[in-house]
Parts: sequence; C-alpha cells; structure tokens
Amino acid sequence: MSTATSDNDLHRRSAPLDMGPEEFRRLGHRLVDDIAAFLETLATGPVNRDESPTEVRALLPEGGLPEEGSSAERLLAEVTPMLFEHSLFNGHPRFLGYITSSAAPLGALGDLLAATINPNLGGWQLSPVATEIERQSVRWIAEMLGYPGDAGGLLVSGGNLANCHCFLAARRAKAGESVRVRGLEAKRGQLLVYASTETHTWLQKAADLFGHGTDSIRWLPVDADLRADVGALREQIETDKSRGDRPFLIVGNAGTVSTGAVDPLAEMADVAHEHDLWFHADGAYGAFAVITPGAPAELAAMSRADSIAVDPHKWLYAPLEAGCVLVRDANTLTDAFGYTPTYYRFTGEEEDPRVNFYEWGLQNSRGFRALKVWLGLRQVGRSGYARMIGDDIRLARELFERVDEEPELEALTRELSITTFRFVPAGLEVGTETYLNQLNEELLARLKASGEAFPSNAEISGTFALRACIVNFRTSLADIEALPEIVIRHGREVDSKLRPAELRT
Ligand SMILES: *Cc1c(COP(=O)(O)O)cnc(C)c1O
Repeated sequence: MSTATSDNDLHRRSAPLDMGPEEFRRLGHRLVDDIAAFLETLATGPVNRDESPTEVRALLPEGGLPEEGSSAERLLAEVTPMLFEHSLFNGHPRFLGYITSSAAPLGALGDLLAATINPNLGGWQLSPVATEIERQSVRWIAEMLGYPGDAGGLLVSGGNLANCHCFLAARRAKAGESVRVRGLEAKRGQLLVYASTETHTWLQKAADLFGHGTDSIRWLPVDADLRADVGALREQIETDKSRGDRPFLIVGNAGTVSTGAVDPLAEMADVAHEHDLWFHADGAYGAFAVITPGAPAELAAMSRADSIAVDPHKWLYAPLEAGCVLVRDANTLTDAFGYTPTYYRFTGEEEDPRVNFYEWGLQNSRGFRALKVWLGLRQVGRSGYARMIGDDIRLARELFERVDEEPELEALTRELSITTFRFVPAGLEVGTETYLNQLNEELLARLKASGEAFPSNAEISGTFALRACIVNFRTSLADIEALPEIVIRHGREVDSKLRPAELRT
C-alpha cells in the first residue's frame, strides 16, 4: 500500500480514518445494542475476574505497531466482548471499593455526543455552547454546595487536579503575584499548609510538585472519630508564625477518603479567618452529601471555604473523568492561571464577556466533560441526587448494623456511605492484632478475586479494616444483606489455612 495520496486523489480525499454515514449507523447501532445487553446482565455476572497481567496482555494483538489498518467493524466486534468479559465493573451492584461510582448510562451517551462534536473548551470561540454548558454545570454544582451565584470554577479530570488547582489559587491569593514571578522565596519564610493526617495524598503531590516540598505540610493529629484536631491547628499556626514562617492554607476534609470523616469545618474556617489564611475544603467524596437530609451538619460549613474540590465522577455518578474546582471569588483563578499568548485573540464584548477556560486552569485544550455532568443534573435534578446519595448512606448504615449483629464480624466505623469492619474468627484470644491484620488483608485479596463482591480496605489506628463504600445507585439492600455471609464464608476458609498453631485452640 502506498503511503502517499496522489495529487489527483487529494481533490476528493478519502482518509482511512473517516467513516461513511451508512457504516457509522450500522456499527453504532450494533454497539448500542451490545451495551444495552451488557447493562441488562451486568448484575448477574462477576464484579471482577481474577486474571494476571500476563493473561490480560494475551488478549491484545501480538507484535509491534500495526503497519496496516483493520476494518472498524472487525475491531469493534473484537474489543466489545474483550471489555465486557475482562474488566472490573464499578457499575456492578456489588462493587463497593475505593470511591469509584457506577456511571450513569446517560453520561455514556453524552460522552459519545461530546466526542462527536469535539469542541475545544480552552476558548469560548472554539466551544460556544459547550463553554456555556460547562459554566452552567459549575454554577449548579456551586448552588448545590451553598456557594454564592458569582462563584467561579471549572471542570478538571478529577479530585486530585481539582484540589491542586485550589492549592495554586490559594498560594497566588496569599503569597501575591511575586510567587508567580520569583517563585518560592525561602528568605521570606516558608509557605505552610495545615491538614489532618487523614488527608488524601493529593496534598503531598501538590506540595512536592509545586516546589513547596512535603515538609511544608503541617500534619494535624485526629481525634477518635478521625477528625482534625483544631486545638493542634491553632497551636501549630502560632508556633510557625512566631518562627517567621508563612502559613497560607488550611485544608479541611468534607469526607475523608478512608472512612468518610468530616473535619470540624466551621471551626477550621474560623481559624483561617482569624489568621487571614485560605480555607480549602476537599469535598471530592463527601461534598454532595450536603443536599441530603440527615447529612453531617459540619458539611454546611463548606460554603465558608475559599475553595472547594468536588468530584462529579463520584457522587454525581458521571462516567470518568470529571472533577470540579470551585472558588468563592472567580478572579482568584484568573489571577493564578491567566496568561494570554499572542496566538489567542479571543476578544469579546465588555458587557457580554466570553469565558476562556484556558485562563482559569492548567489545561489549554480541554474536552467536553461538562456534557455528561450537565445531563445528569438535568435528568434527575437536585431531588434525584438527594435521593440516590441518601439511599447510598442508608445502605452503609444498614451494612453497619448487619455486621454488628454477626459474632464473627466487628463493626468499626460508619460515616457518610462508608462502613468499615473486620473478620474476627471464633476461638481467638486477645493479643492477636498482628494475626487479625494479616488475616483480613488475605481475606480482602480473596474477596476481590472471588468476583462475588469487591470491598477495599482502610487502616484505622493500625487496624487493617475491610471497607465498603457505597457510591453506587445499583447497590440494593439485597446486596448489602448478602455481604456478611460472603465475608464470613471466605474468612473462615482463609483463617483455617493461615492461623498459626500457637493461636489454635
Ligand atoms: C477521591 C478523592 C480524591 C482524589 O480524587 P480523584 O478523582 O481520584 O483524583 C481526593 N480527595 C478525596 C477526599 C477523595 O475522596
């Protein structure tokens, strides 16, 4: 096959990637039918298949980069069953791991449409409707969280990036424009951030990668409920200030990633206010719970934060990826991220300005991740989300109660929609913590491999816990009721093989 198109053929070009309308219709309809059938039977299959990387790689074509192409029809016929038969399904009703939600089917259709139009949401001119859809999505999310109508924000890939954007907005706001020009100037004192030991690892990444160093994080101890100790926060700030360092940022968790603990956000906001620090709420997991009746009262104090990071790909059930940056004062984003290159000339009317998102964040070219988020918000509204999130939380409570009733299970924590517990077999004496940790770790690996249910783990003051996090609109009470039996059955088997002789009675 020749690698060049002849000049003659370029007059009426036919590119190998293009697809005629008839073929697109035929392949598209078949794919949608296959997806519908997959969704129909999802719940009856395994959550996960226990395949090794070598086994999984063997599914892919052998050899190097293909020189010649294949037909689109053949490729879809090959890849569709491959994905349906060899994936881990976080949309399965018994997927209860990490914080990865089931994805709304309308979101999948939205992604198809978004990719078809393919607007570039870096600049308004390249994405007129799409940019306005993103702006409206962000405004609605801000409204859900109690933020004022003129708050700013944008969608990014997820919670990590949302938190990182807020970190950078905070540092520009508190350290001034000089930090953008001269960088971190050690002689002016170190810029310090305060957060509990339960904070997600995005904070280390931010401190490290943005040049502060992880030593600039002042880790706050937590109380018995794993919430930041505000007394320690106050003391640490005083100590650091008296030493000539520069506190700039307090991070509060609106639902920790491990157990769902909500920090004393109102008190942390007070401290930030007293010391003129930026207060950021990491609500990647828990923020949206604020719309449910009976949610932890502390969540309402998120609205006092200077910035909030949330994750539509968690409790708005948007397909990956969608995180959201929110700032109380929209100018703080352009202050931190704005540069106008010579090749971007997106001037608009003063009274009807065009928002160019490339000036609001790290990304330049940006995809239309807003569509799936916006469609979800419109499909079910605030009330639909309140109901689904409320149901997830109720199921976590039910699980806690079920676990608590089982003599061989020990219920540990229950916050938001996360319940942690562990398997404690009969006939064990005290002083066997090391063995219990080992046993539960083995048990977790076995549960994940079994395909029957997929919890994850948490470490609670040195205790290895099994952790069920329900951010899954497909999980029902029946799935929750089935869990204790599954855990105990596998737990007994693991225990019978693993327990050392000296612990046998
Ligand atoms: C999930 C989570 C993050 C990270 O978000 P990603 O979307 O995975 O990047 C950060 N903080 C908290 C509290 C989270 O729950």
